[in-house]
Formats: sequence, C-alpha cells, structure tokens
Amino acid sequence: MQVPSLSKLEVTALKGVGNKFAQTLARLDIQSVQDLLFHLPQRYVDRTRIRSIASLRLNDVAMLQASVLDARIVFGRRRSLQVKVEDDSGVMSLRFFHFNAAQKNSFEQGRVLRLFGEVRPGPAGPEMYHPEYEFFDTPENAQETEARLTPIYPLTEGVSQPRMRALTQQAIEFLAQSPPEELLPDMDNHRFRVHSLAEALAYVHFPPADADIQQLLAGQHPYQQRLAFEELLAHFLVKQFIRAENRRFDAPTVTLNRNAIQPLLDQLPFSPTAAQERVTAEVARDLNASKPMLRMVQGDVGSGKTLVAAMAAYATVQAGYQVAVVAPTEILAEQHLQNFRRWFEPLGLKVEWLVGRLTAKQKREVLERLHQRETDIVIGTHALFEEPVRFRCLALAVIDEQHRFGVHQRLSLRGKNDDDSVPHQLVMTATPIPRTLAMTSYAELDFSIIDELPPGRKPVQTVVISQDRKVAVIERVRAAIAEGRQVYWVCPLIEESETLSAANAEDTFETLSTALPETGVALVHGRLKAQEKEERMAAFKQGEARLLVATTVIEVGVDVPNASVMIIENPERLGLAQLHQLRGRVGRGSEESHCILLYGDKLSREGKARLQILRETNDGFQIAERDLEMRGPGEFLGTRQAGDMLYRIADHQRDAHLFSAVQECGLRLLDAHPEAAQKLVDRWFGRRQHYALA
Ligand code: ADP
Ligand code: MG
Repeated sequence: MQVPSLSKLEVTALKGVGNKFAQTLARLDIQSVQDLLFHLPQRYVDRTRIRSIASLRLNDVAMLQASVLDARIVFGRRRSLQVKVEDDSGVMSLRFFHFNAAQKNSFEQGRVLRLFGEVRPGPAGPEMYHPEYEFFDTPENAQETEARLTPIYPLTEGVSQPRMRALTQQAIEFLAQSPPEELLPDMDNHRFRVHSLAEALAYVHFPPADADIQQLLAGQHPYQQRLAFEELLAHFLVKQFIRAENRRFDAPTVTLNRNAIQPLLDQLPFSPTAAQERVTAEVARDLNASKPMLRMVQGDVGSGKTLVAAMAAYATVQAGYQVAVVAPTEILAEQHLQNFRRWFEPLGLKVEWLVGRLTAKQKREVLERLHQRETDIVIGTHALFEEPVRFRCLALAVIDEQHRFGVHQRLSLRGKNDDDSVPHQLVMTATPIPRTLAMTSYAELDFSIIDELPPGRKPVQTVVISQDRKVAVIERVRAAIAEGRQVYWVCPLIEESETLSAANAEDTFETLSTALPETGVALVHGRLKAQEKEERMAAFKQGEARLLVATTVIEVGVDVPNASVMIIENPERLGLAQLHQLRGRVGRGSEESHCILLYGDKLSREGKARLQILRETNDGFQIAERDLEMRGPGEFLGTRQAGDMLYRIADHQRDAHLFSAVQECGLRLLDAHPEAAQKLVDRWFGRRQHYALA
C-alpha cells in the first residue's frame, strides 16, 4: 500500500474512526495520524507482571494477586471499607471510601483477587485506595498481564485509555512505511543516541516489558529526551517567529528623555534610583524606534517598577498617544489607578479604569471616551483585552505581573487601533526569570532588570521557628494589632486534607477568630468567587479587617503599607522565591516589619537550612538563584504560564540542561534551514500555532 505523509493522513483513515469520533479527537488537537503519534503518554503503568506485596514501595502502581484475609468498616474521619489481603510475601490493606454492603460481603475470607492500583501512605502503613480488582475464582475471569508497558495518555471526554491505545497501535504500524521527516541536524540526533524519530516514537508509546520503568517515569530515557529536545526546540522557534512577526509591524515613535518627563519628575517626592534611570533609558531606545517594543522589566518587590512605567506612559501621552495598563486583579488595577491619578491628574492627564465591576453603562462610556481619545491612560484588568475595546491611538501597553497572562492575550492588544499601528509593550514582573528560562520560554522578549531598591528601605526581619511556638506567635499578633498594625497569616492549604498534614486556612481562620475575639479577621483563598475575594481583600486594605488569613493567593502585588507582620505556616511546602514574594507584602510602610516562618515538626536539617536563606538576605535575585540551584525552574516558577507552557513531553525543571543546546540548534536551523524550523513548529503546534502566534 502507498502511504502518504502521516501529517496528511486523516485519522479517519484508521479503523474505527468515523467523522463523529474524529471531531472528539480534534478536541485534543489530533487531526492527522501524525498528530496521534505526537500525542505522547503522560506516564506508564506496569501490567506486564504480578508483583509481590513485599516488593512494593510507596507510589508504585502495580498489579498484585492476593487472597482476602478480612474486610471491615472503619469509622475514622470518614467511614471507609478496609480490606486486608495477603500473598506469600506479606499483607497489604485496601481502602474504599465509596462502597456498598454487597461489595463488602463479596470480600469473603480466602477469595483470590487480582488487583491493580497505586500504593499510598495510610494511617498504619501502605494502602491501595480504590484499586481496580477482579476475583480470580476461575482463571478465565482474570485480567491478563500485558506484553508491554501500558501508556497513559491525556484524554478528553468521549475517549478512553483503551481506545486511545488501540488507535496509537494502528498509527505505529504506519511508521515503518512512512516515517516522519527527520528535522534535527544529525549531530543533535546523535546526542541522544537515537537512530530515528520513528524508533523513538514507537518506543515511547509502547515500551517493552523489560524497559526501565523508573527511568521512563522520570522522563530520562534517551528516546524521551530526544522528543523533549525537539519539543523545546519547537517552543523556542515559535518565540523566534513571534519576534520576527513583531518586526513586520510599525509602532508609533515616542521620545522619552529628561526633557519630556521633567514635569512628572518635578511632581514626585523622590528622584528615580540609578537602576530606574538605566532601565528607563533602555525602554526609551525601544520607544524611539518604529518597531514595537517587546520588553520585560524585572524588579524585586518594591523596586519601583511602577515609576518606570509611569515615565514611559507620560512621554507617550506627551507625544500625542494613549496608554493602557493591564493588571491581573481589580485590587491591583485600583492601586495603579490611585498612583497614576495622583501623579498625572495635576499635570492635566485624564486617567480612567475599566474593570468587570463597572456597570454596563459605565463601561460603554469608558469605551466611548477611549475611542474618542478623551482618555489618555486607561488602567484595567483582562477586560482591556476584550473585543469591544478600541483605541484612537494606543502606543504603549504596560502589563503588570505578566505571568498571569498568556502570550496570546498580550498580543491581542494588536489591532485595537483605528490605524494599522501596533503598540509598544512593557511587561513587568517581580518574579525573576532565570536566564535559562529567558532563553526559551520568554525568547520573544528583551529584558531589563531593576537591581536596586529605593533608599531608606528597612529590610524585613525574618525569623524561622517551629510551629510548637504558635501560641507565643498569636500573642505577638495580638500585640501588633493592639499597636494599630495589620497582620497577614498565610497557610499552604485551603481546607483539611486526607493526605497532607499542613496548616489549612479554614481551620486557622477559626482558631484565630476564637483566640482574638476583639479583632476583625478576614479569610481569603482561591476557591472564593473573584468578587468575594476582592471584597475581603478590600476590607483588609481599608483597615476594617486587621488580620488577613490567606492562602498564597495574596502573593501578587497587594499593597497595604500598614501591614507589618507576616506569618507563614509550613513554609517548607513553598519555594523560596514564592516565600520572598509573600514576604514582600510587608515592609512597605515606615514601621519595622517582621516575617515569621512557622515550620512543621517533620522538617529536615537541609529544609531548615533552606529557609535560613530568607533570614540571611532580602535580595530577590540572590534568593531566586539559590532556589533555582536547589529546585530547578519548573517548581521555581510555581505556576504554569497561562496557555503557552503546556508541554507534551518536555519539562522545564527536568530538561533545563538542554536549554543552551536548544537555543544553539534553533538559531542554526533558522539560519540554514528555515523550512525545517517551520515544519518543526507545524509538527508540535499544529493548529495551536495560531494560538501561540496570535
Ligand atoms: P514594585 O516594583 O513592587 O511594583 P512599586 O512601583 O509599587 O514597586 O514601588 C514601591 C514603592 O516605592 C512605592 O510606594 C513607590 O512610590 C516607591 N518608590 C518608587 N521609586 C522610588 C524612588 N526612586 N525613591 C523612593 N521611593 C520610590
Ligand atoms: Mg508592582
């Protein structure tokens, strides 16, 4: 049979795929047989052999054959059915939270089961929660063992794992006749000791029974690394395409120099730091060119990023254009609104805001004034990205705390002007981006760093102490509040957890409300509705609540200068960079500020040493570097980037060692084989490309 290129072969060519199922697969971005081959397993399970109970370790996913010893209902925090089973090597407990009487009765003593599940920590030793099981009364009845490791795929509703496996199996059969094109230069293929892409794909979908499953689960197999390299390369290339694309547009030219912004400087109660001046000069060079700026300004919390944005904004308005400032939450937008009004209204500029909470009529009016150019500067949330927003002449978009927004959202600001001009973009973040990440995930941007804090800051005094001393800490909170201060109390979890022992915000809120009856206490966490969250934050900001119990949702940008104490429970569960961000919520006023890290009782010596880094320094960049050394970039960033960091097989932390080779290979391809670069992007992004690019 003559097989066309697999990228041209529709999935409907496979047995059992009709038009309807093809539509379901399209939701996974699978349209061609090639798409199916690049839809890679997330992990594997081993159904090739029956393990002995004694050989199991925590988190193993394994098949067992064992006989029932005993089944009983246990009344713990939640009622559950506990079944004890044994094989020749030992005893193991199964736990079911959902069960009925018939099911309980079926576990008769001595009956033989074949089981499949994950080993997890239980109250009295390892357990399997809700394993798959089948009685093995007659051998025909039992689940068969498999000849190869079983891949587990990302799915969507209407596709099951067995069905996906069957499809992939068919797709693999095409590989020999129509292998996917090798797009990496030879030397890069050899780096991974891989003969061909076809071989790597076949292996990664269905590894043989004797494959090293631990290596595969860790993503360290050379075939996986070969594919991860190619995927990272495709992401790097997309960013380079965004850069190239950006240079095709024209942007308004704005002159930013001391002359242009003198009236603003005269107004300020302070003068810019040397670092603010230097970064502003870098921004000025971009604004003065006729191509759109794409620049990220990194600066520690409190380094004064807003002023840099304000200087750029002022010059832009003086040049006759409009400015938009986008913040991730209404609270932050409101903060910017206050600052910008205070600085700009005396100079005759018109500053407005556009957020979800405005009425429809108010919004219409704001939109109208924007389009008529009656408004110089508009501050808002993601509402500014939306369709009805039009400008007469937007020349500068400032995006604060960019990691809350995706590339496609930012780029949607293009095409909002009446003419064809595209605004300059200034992206600001307090999360230092490690150099390795900057080279790939943010390769479309230029970088500036504000590496100096304004003078006269009192560093936050940090102590690291055990949760055993919580009672004393509560007394300290009482004293601070009695002196008129406000306090943050941060917990890693929202509610009590079955598997994790860590402070949770709901219980802590109860405890503190009871212990401090004279104090207004507020609770915020990520599961509240946005409006509820905003209201409670606002109550704290206005001083109605004196103590704010929160999860890490308060991390970004909230500015309450009167808050001078921050308590963080179980800090060992958070990254240092994240802790530093949290700590940056205090130390904003004239008072001496304190941060108390209340670690749990199981913290190791190294764990304590790690937290001591925060005691030793208030320098976010130094902390980020040390954190990165210890944990790698994936965890370091904590959150996934909205939309544009969804990898199929690569992993930022695990594969950081590939970044410089990716960058080098990417630049080589763009230079010598641009058509291969485009094909790589097509292969890995397919239809998502539009999303990534526009
Ligand atoms: P961030 O970089 O965290 O966004 P902000 O822009 O909110 O920091 O600035 C933090 C505080 O420092 C604000 O109150 C701001 O007015 C003040 N500030 C900014 N620049 C200077 C400066 N050069 N000298 C003194 N204070 C400054
Ligand atoms: Mg800020």
